[in-house]
Amino acid sequence: MNRTEELIQKDINHLWHPFTQMKLWPEEPPLIIEKGDKNWLIDTDGNRYFDGVSSLWVTVHGHNHPRIKAAIKDQLERLDHSTLLGLSHPLAVLLAARLAEIAPGDLKWSFYSESGSTAVEIGLKIAYQHWQQVGQTQRKTFVALENAYHGDTIGSVSVGGIDLFHKVYGPLLFDVHRLPQPHCRACRLGLKYPECDLACANALDDILEKHGPEVCALVVEPMMQGAAGMVAQPKGYLTRLYEIAQKHDILFMADEVATGFGRTGKMFACELEGIEPDIMCMGKGITGGTLPLAATMANDRVYNAFLGDFDEFKTFFHGHTYTGNPLACAAALASLELFSENRVLENLAASIDHLEKGLAKIAALKHVVEIRRQGMMVGIELALDKEADEPYEASERMGHKVIMAARKHGVIIRPLGDTVILMPPLSSTLEELDLLLAATEKAISEVTETA
Ligand code: PMP
Repeated sequence: MNRTEELIQKDINHLWHPFTQMKLWPEEPPLIIEKGDKNWLIDTDGNRYFDGVSSLWVTVHGHNHPRIKAAIKDQLERLDHSTLLGLSHPLAVLLAARLAEIAPGDLKWSFYSESGSTAVEIGLKIAYQHWQQVGQTQRKTFVALENAYHGDTIGSVSVGGIDLFHKVYGPLLFDVHRLPQPHCRACRLGLKYPECDLACANALDDILEKHGPEVCALVVEPMMQGAAGMVAQPKGYLTRLYEIAQKHDILFMADEVATGFGRTGKMFACELEGIEPDIMCMGKGITGGTLPLAATMANDRVYNAFLGDFDEFKTFFHGHTYTGNPLACAAALASLELFSENRVLENLAASIDHLEKGLAKIAALKHVVEIRRQGMMVGIELALDKEADEPYEASERMGHKVIMAARKHGVIIRPLGDTVILMPPLSSTLEELDLLLAATEKAISEVTETA
C-alpha cells in the first residue's frame, strides 16, 4: 500500500465524516487533501484541484495567505490561549472593536464562539433571554424560513427548516413559526413576482398579528439562503421583512454565517438593502478560512437588557473553553486588514461580473433549469425536463454525480440535492473563474446528457 492508500484505509476504518452516509464511503474513497496553495487544494498524490467552494465557503484571500500565517505565528510567540471568563486579551478586544466598525447599523457587542452553529445558538439564547430580562416572559418562540439551514445544534436545527434533519431529531426540537420560502421560480404560494407584492414576506405580518407577543425574533439569512439550496430573495423582500418585524417590535436576527465577509459583494449582505439587525451571526469567512471562530453581535437594545443592578439571572449563561481564542482573533484581524489593503470588496465587482457573464453558457444547457446567484454565491439547479420543470428522482443523485465528474476536470464543487454550488474564493482570478465554469459545464453536460 502506498501512503495515500494507507491513509484512505485508516480513514475508512476510523474517521466518521459529517453529513455522510458512511456505508457509501468505501465505494467513494475520499481525496486526501494535504496542502493548500492560493485558491487550490493539493492531494497526497500531488493532484491539484481548484477550490470551487472555498472549502465550505470560508476561504477569502486564498489558502495559507502569508499575511494571515504571519499573524498567527506572531501571536503564537506571545500567547496560544487564555480564557475570556474573568480575563481578556488584546486581540479579542481589538477584533470586537473592529467588528463594531464594519458591522451594519448599531451592532456593537461581540460574543465569540467557534462555529456558525454556535453563533446562531447564542443568538437564539440572547434573544430569548433579552425578553425575559425586560419582563416580556411570554416571548418564547421564533419565526424562521421554510427550508432554512442555520446549523446543526439542537437550537439551530429547530429554527432551520430542512425536513430531513427535523425527521431524525424531531422530539428534541422546539417549534417555530414558518414563513414560506421566497423561491420565485417555484413559488410556494403559486404567485408571480412582482405582482405577488412579496406575499411570502407579508406572511410575517399575518403570523405576528396572531402570535406577535409570543415571538422573540425573526431569524433569516439575508438576501440568499445558502445551504437551503442557494435561494436568492427577490428585491425588496428583506426590507419588507424588516419593516414588518419593526412594526411588531420583535428582534431581527440575521444569520450572515454564509453571506458575511464579502460573499455577496458587500462586507455583509444586510448592506444590500440597508438592513440594521438587532442580532447578527457570523462565522465561516471571519478568519479568512484559517482557524475556527464565530461571533454573535448585538446592539445596545439587546445588550442593555443584561445590565442593571446585580441579579445573577442577568448573566448570559454561555461561553465555551476556546471562546475568542487569540490565534483565531489574530487571523481574523489580519484577514480584515487584507480586505482594506487589497481593496477586496472594490475589486470583487469585476469578478462578480465575469462570473455572471460566464454562467450564461451553463444556463443554456439542456438540463439546467435555473441559476441563482448573489455575488460570489451560485446555485445551478438541474432538472430532468427543463421546460416542464420536472426534477430528477432523488435516488439518481445527479448533483452528486456532477461534482464527482467535476473532480476529474480538476475542480472541487458541492451539491445540495440537484443544485450544484459554486462558491469560489474572493481571491479567484478571472482565469480561475473561467476554469471553474468550463469544468462545471463539462461535468454537467457529461452527466446529464448521457444519463
Ligand atoms: N448558518 C448558515 C447560514 C450556514 O450556512 C451554516 C453552515 N453551512 C451555519 C449556520 C453553521 O455553520 P457551521 O457549519 O460553522 O457550524
